[in-house]
Amino acid sequence: ESQLNPNYNFDSFIEGDSNRLARSAGMAVANKPGGTSFNPLLIYGGVGLGKTHLAHAIGVEIKEKYPDKTVLYISSERFTQQFIDSVKSNTRNDFIHFYQMIDVLIIDDVQFLSGKTGTQDVFFHIFNHLHQNGKQVIISSDKAPVDMQDIEQRLLSRFKWGLSAELQAPDYETRVSILQNKLYRDGVDMPDEIVDYIAKNIKSNVRELEGVLVSMIAQASFNRKEFTLSLTKQIVDKFVKNTKREVSIDQIQKVVSSYFDLDVATLQSKTRKRHIVQARQLAMFFAKKMTKASLASIGSQIGKRDHATVLHACKTVDNLTETDKQFRKYVEDLTKKLTY
Ligand code: ADP
Ligand code: MG
Repeated sequence: ESQLNPNYNFDSFIEGDSNRLARSAGMAVANKPGGTSFNPLLIYGGVGLGKTHLAHAIGVEIKEKYPDKTVLYISSERFTQQFIDSVKSNTRNDFIHFYQMIDVLIIDDVQFLSGKTGTQDVFFHIFNHLHQNGKQVIISSDKAPVDMQDIEQRLLSRFKWGLSAELQAPDYETRVSILQNKLYRDGVDMPDEIVDYIAKNIKSNVRELEGVLVSMIAQASFNRKEFTLSLTKQIVDKFVKNTKREVSIDQIQKVVSSYFDLDVATLQSKTRKRHIVQARQLAMFFAKKMTKASLASIGSQIGKRDHATVLHACKTVDNLTETDKQFRKYVEDLTKKLTY
């Protein structure tokens, strides 16, 4: 049993700037498992950006090209549980032996091995054995190796042997393609302006993008409703609100200030220096996105500005995120800092 999900394949994994490197590295590995310098191949990125999908796609493709190879997909949590069970039942050697026989090992979400020294230790030995024997290892994680915490140094250094490829948040065009592809597969017709509205408003997570679609399709068929813009707005709104985390505006100002090496007083000051204005606009944007505070209240807490200034800030951040790569990186970094 490979534990692979055949629906998570390369055909259904839409290519875009945000995933091109990881996707083509995955393809290369699938063509020649163990035979490229991408060993291990480490795929990293935030929640809902396609790590699990891509990991499966590589495995599915290998199984198709090389039916005789043993491919195993396993989450790090299950791996940990199996290891603990094997220790309890005195079958640790069987456990190790089983994993050492595999041709392609795909281990998802290795951040869950953080702090688990026993499991890390056993994985280290399995990894070395597989690697020495030219077997392929594919790893996914929510962070790049340099940012991983509580993972042993010797394991981190192994992770860096091959290629680390990032999955970033998809840009607007990719989001539209993902939505259209999913609609096509489900045989559902949806007006372009609706697809456009969803793609413009759900930005940082493909799972949410799909979630909105699923709930739209359900609502529309259940209530025999058309796909109207007002229905779309309701559903998108609910998604956006549900994912709002409990972060305070104070916290947001601290995180943004420290990210740009400013102090909070400077962030709130009247200065029009460009980089400070940008930091202030980002703080307003995140306050709007992550708290339930009104525009007026956000303005008054971030340097006594009015609601129009906050609204303008949110629009500016939206625009820059679409057009400016460096700026998009700021938004992604800050999103990570504010959500973990
Ligand atoms: P992660 O493991 O990074 O949290 P997943 O692989 O579970 O994310 O992806 C979340 C959902 O988004 C899945 O249903 C997946 O099929 C879909 N998805 C992610 N990236 C893409 C893509 N590039 N094309 C099509 N679907 C995608
Ligand atoms: Mg996953």
